[in-house]
Amino acid sequence: MSVTATKTDRVNLLDYDRAGLREYFASIGEKPFRADQVIKWLYQHGVADFDEMSNLAVSLRQKLSQVSEIYLPEVEQANLSADGTSKWIFRLRGGNSIETVFIPEKNRGTLCVSSQVGCALDCSFCSTARQGFNRNLSSGEIIGQVWLATHLLAQSPATREHRITNVVMMGMGEPLLNFNNLVKALNLMLDDSAYGLSKRRVTVSTSGVLPAMDKLKETVDVSLAVSLHAANDALRSRLVPLNDKYPISELMDTCRRWVGQGDRKRHVMFEYVMLEGVNDQPEHARQLVKLLKGFPCKVNLIPFNPFEQSGYQRSSDEAIDRFWQILHKNRIVATKRKTRGDDIDGACGQLAGQVNDRSKRVLKFMKPRYGESL
Ligand code: SAH
Repeated sequence: MSVTATKTDRVNLLDYDRAGLREYFASIGEKPFRADQVIKWLYQHGVADFDEMSNLAVSLRQKLSQVSEIYLPEVEQANLSADGTSKWIFRLRGGNSIETVFIPEKNRGTLCVSSQVGCALDCSFCSTARQGFNRNLSSGEIIGQVWLATHLLAQSPATREHRITNVVMMGMGEPLLNFNNLVKALNLMLDDSAYGLSKRRVTVSTSGVLPAMDKLKETVDVSLAVSLHAANDALRSRLVPLNDKYPISELMDTCRRWVGQGDRKRHVMFEYVMLEGVNDQPEHARQLVKLLKGFPCKVNLIPFNPFEQSGYQRSSDEAIDRFWQILHKNRIVATKRKTRGDDIDGACGQLAGQVNDRSKRVLKFMKPRYGESL
């Protein structure tokens, strides 16, 4: 280890949530309330330069710039779709890149945030899976996407009015396989001194990493989306190989624990990608009804977004409507997600980024399939 501090030896202040930053400040001999001030500068004012933090003494600013840094990924590409959707490619240290998407709607604006470089889960209909897995994002790289998107939207006249009201962890990667870093970033999204989003507006989407779902429930109060895609194990395992490890019955037990007893307010959003001739037939809808009847949930039907050599087709509108009708008749609330941003490859499952070193994908098959963290 080198004794002289290079840029990357310094701690990145974006890697801490408020509790962590207070501890860090105590460890360098500063009053913890200074950390609260810094959090406000960083996230409420979008300041990334110590010199602008005018309520901190100059000596503290100098000290901070010696021992720490405010590191944000670089903007490699920005695209604005005809429908108003923005997509950015952010370049990380070490050369990989990730994607972040902003989707404006009438009364809200949703930011779709990545949690990993690539993904290890190999879902057969997702283009991120084809990239392999490289590494987890740091907390700073996760919350940095919110920071950068806020900043970049405000900068351009075409998007100046756009506001981030919702965050969904539905970009690249499986958020629950990057648990600790995810939680710190979620804490900042919820913290009134940072982004102050309500728990209903921050959603973690998972393919069903069951132990981590239970842990998340105990750790931070956010909304949950589960990528279901099929209501029978044989088909779900084909689409989401993680189902071999955590089959549907155990997934539903975990979802029941998530919702809890007697608290009707908590629910689960089940995502269901509509693949022509694969999982979109009336029998599949009836299986889904049987699985979900009486469970506090919503189903989100996502028309499949094609990518090269995916081997799948998007279900027809008629097939999706027929599927929806069966759910509706059985009092299961379902919505059909509108495809947004597909002209800039920003739709669900089209996020690819750039993964330079894919060797970990090979490692994955040599070790127990999903590593020890499960
Ligand atoms: N790993 C997490 C979050 C990322 S995916 C998860 O699996 O939930 C976010 C959503 O987009 C998931 O529901 C995923 O199944 C869906 N998706 C992936 N590829 C897609 C595609 N090609 N078309 C439509 N939706 C897709």
